[in-house]
Amino acid sequence: MIIVEELPSGPRCSRASCESVAIWRVNWRNPRIHSIDRVKVWLACSEHREFLRDYLETRDFPVVVTGIGESIEQVGSS
Ligand SMILES: [Zn+2]
Repeated sequence: MIIVEELPSGPRCSRASCESVAIWRVNWRNPRIHSIDRVKVWLACSEHREFLRDYLETRDFPVVVTGIGESIEQVGSS
């Protein structure tokens, strides 16, 4: 008999070792390697939303944080 464990549903935070359910999208792009229409997405819980945004902003990457269900077309304007 095979027992299938029921996994908690929902997307997880992208922060390493964080098991929390993500409720934010951290949309970002590296202008040096990504074209303007490229959007990279990290998922974040409330606790790590600021951490992930700061991590990217200190590298001068454009960042836009949105709700988990909200996608955007592009990040940054140049
Ligand atoms: Zn987290």
